[in-house]
Amino acid sequence: MSGYILVVTGGMFSGKSEKLIDKCMKFKEYGKKKVKVYKPSCDDRFSDDEVVSRMGYRFPATNIPEKITNEVMHRILLETEDIDIVGFDEAQFYSKNIMKLVSELAYRGKYVIIAGLNMDYRGKEFGYIGGILAMADEIIRLHSFCAVCGSDKGTHSQRLINGKPAGLDEPIILLGDSESYEPRCRKCFVPPEKVSNEREVQLSS
Ligand code: ZN
Repeated sequence: MSGYILVVTGGMFSGKSEKLIDKCMKFKEYGKKKVKVYKPSCDDRFSDDEVVSRMGYRFPATNIPEKITNEVMHRILLETEDIDIVGFDEAQFYSKNIMKLVSELAYRGKYVIIAGLNMDYRGKEFGYIGGILAMADEIIRLHSFCAVCGSDKGTHSQRLINGKPAGLDEPIILLGDSESYEPRCRKCFVPPEKVSNEREVQLSS
């Protein structure tokens, strides 16, 4: 097989993990390929787990550190020597070496599937997804349904604190506050910097 880079990207609730799992299951079942999926863990261990989509699809996955050191990269290259399809979920969380790793895997003939958020709650580029998108052979851009107007062009992830759009000055959640996210289209998305400005205007008036 020749190397290939497929990126599955979009906002929260757009079905990225589901698409990743669907591809991996089909490659395994119908393509008779060897598949290995990685996902970031909040610790630095390699451990067995699974990727689970919101619709309940599951696929075995190995937890790897978010910081892709040379050692981690070396280990993944060794582990995937006889693997055909290599998947990465939540790829926005990995350190800069993820780009080098994806590129190297593709040069070694792997079909690499990368699923991740393209934008953070500010509507800005998330991690190194941009660099991976630049190398992609194929991009699947998924949308969610806007939680405000119901359009199927949900592109942004709105961070909410106590049900209201969060500003840039609210990074810490205080006891009793509830934080959540909802998908919104470009028209309904309130950029966090705009929330802060509105508050300043209110304070000064
Ligand atoms: Zn909308």
